[in-house]
Amino acid sequence: MKPIRKRTQPAAKRPLRVIARTARPLPPELEQRIRAYMSEVVGRPIAMFFEQDPGLLGGIALQVGNTVLDASLSRRLEEIRAKLAVHLRAAAPIPPPDIPAGVGVARDALRTAGDMIRNYKPVPVVEEVGTVVSVGDGVARVSGLPSAMSGELLAFDGGGEGMVLDLDADAVGCIIFTGGDTIAEGTVVRCTGRVADVPVGEELLGRVVTPLGDPVDGKGPILARARRHIEGPAPGVAEREPVSTPLQTGILAVDAMVPIGRGQRELIIGDRQTGKTSIAVDAIISQKGSGVLCVYVAIGQKASSIAQTVGVLEEQGALPYTVVVVGSASDPAPLQYIAPYAGCAMAEHFMYAGRDVLIVYDDLSKHAAAHREVALLLRRPPGREAYPGDIFYIHGRLLERAAKLSRERGGGSMTALPIVETLAGDMSAYIPTNTISITDGQIYLESDLFFSGIRPAVNVGLSVSRVGGDAQVPAMRELASHLRLDLAQYRELSAFAQFGADLDRATQAQLRRGERIVEVLKQTNREVLAVEEQVVMLFTLSGEWLDDVPVDQTRWFVKEFLVHVREGYPSVMRRIRETGRLDEVREDLARALKAFKKDFAGVMGRHAESA
Ligand code: ATP
Ligand code: MG
Repeated sequence: MKPIRKRTQPAAKRPLRVIARTARPLPPELEQRIRAYMSEVVGRPIAMFFEQDPGLLGGIALQVGNTVLDASLSRRLEEIRAKLAVHLRAAAPIPPPDIPAGVGVARDALRTAGDMIRNYKPVPVVEEVGTVVSVGDGVARVSGLPSAMSGELLAFDGGGEGMVLDLDADAVGCIIFTGGDTIAEGTVVRCTGRVADVPVGEELLGRVVTPLGDPVDGKGPILARARRHIEGPAPGVAEREPVSTPLQTGILAVDAMVPIGRGQRELIIGDRQTGKTSIAVDAIISQKGSGVLCVYVAIGQKASSIAQTVGVLEEQGALPYTVVVVGSASDPAPLQYIAPYAGCAMAEHFMYAGRDVLIVYDDLSKHAAAHREVALLLRRPPGREAYPGDIFYIHGRLLERAAKLSRERGGGSMTALPIVETLAGDMSAYIPTNTISITDGQIYLESDLFFSGIRPAVNVGLSVSRVGGDAQVPAMRELASHLRLDLAQYRELSAFAQFGADLDRATQAQLRRGERIVEVLKQTNREVLAVEEQVVMLFTLSGEWLDDVPVDQTRWFVKEFLVHVREGYPSVMRRIRETGRLDEVREDLARALKAFKKDFAGVMGRHAESA
């Protein structure tokens, strides 16, 4: 194989750049002496530059190639400040009202600082630096930094912060998180030895934060005690357990037919404006009082939509147990790119502490677009639909971090609800097929259903849950077992029945039943249902109870029956909630329903007379 020729000249022939930075201009004869000395020390041709940087205060900083020998006054003071901070932390903590003790510590600190300055030995600090070659659109290329690691945080002179994404032979490609406007060609960059992390813990609950963990809700600083790397390995096979506990979304159509278990990854997929976000938000609202903590990651959405979602969570009392991570459409692509990883790290912290967490990624199509933007700016070769080759890996890596942990690992869980938007219902596009293959099932929402008033617009035929069925409450499992099939058959028959063909009795019965199932499963968003309420509603579908109720009154009938049971039979509700079984309450429910139907028929009769 032919070796890849580098565009740059071989290192030995190029003159080595040497930059001497001082606070004030040096006299010409001193510059001359430094130049002569450097060329002797380096032992090869050099290009010598002198620059002024008043921020150094005094002394000199010499940059030779990628190495800086820093003997400036500002660096010395910075070191003393750092040492002093350590010293003060050791002397603390002082309770705030204890003024005499506080004065004592301050006096000690001053004395120590004096000692440090007196005894300071001027040893130049040697470190490796790089220089920005090009910058723009949230990414930069930096030459030098031969020891930079992928994922390492970089500090730009002037306060900017970024992260290494690409490692090339003579440069690194990095994304910029903050201080983009202070970075220009020639800005000096240093490695920090740290990888990107975010604050995690209970302090974040109820807050709206950026992907870097900074608050944006105007509720003051977040005093988190712990931090966690945004990227991390997913739990291994031995650390996991099968999904066994249901995660109630409060949506009857979902909980009955595409049940989700704690630790599962269920994709919510559909065209724009089909109620994807609503399903995820309802699932969050449903966790109230269940002990499940929630993280909602908004990626690439309009700020107004995000504000609306946060408003709904607040109004429904769901914010106190939820963290909202926002990488909005107006944020640079790099921030949108790291948003789901940051949210995942926050959720992971709770999971490893033994808690159950629900995380929503809204949505991964926009995340893929942000990743594509970053990759193209970094000049990575584009692949299918111009996405970079590792798009499957970055989503797989993210979703694999959701898990149900084994008891030895604390038994926590992270349930992930990624959302993906399709174009004109095309599930076979690149990102939809990728995410479908990574997740444990999908809830497929359809525009046609949505606009014909069937909301939530779940297409039962194309929606599956590969693991959640095991976690379903027994009563639900029993009542819902035929629902999917009945509904699918109804959809098929109803298309056929439109031709006005003569239908046999069995078909008519199936159509009648299907129409009523559709009605019962309709549910307005934010009206979440507890599992016992769902069981009572499904019970009305378990025989021929609804066959003589007019279709347009089915919903009303079932809702009224629910109120009737809730008020008249609180013990039935309680028993379903506690045992999750149907056997013990089946007779009570049947009796209640029979009595209710009689009353209802009376009401209907009166209604008809008065009409
Ligand atoms: P986008 O593609 O813009 O992200 P989306 O698929 O997330 O849209 P939503 O924002 O959840 O869709 O819902 C779109 C609209 O439909 C909203 O106004 C919402 O209130 C309404 N909606 C969603 N679900 C229901 C429902 N079950 N019943 C009535 N209205 C609903
Ligand atoms: Mg949405």
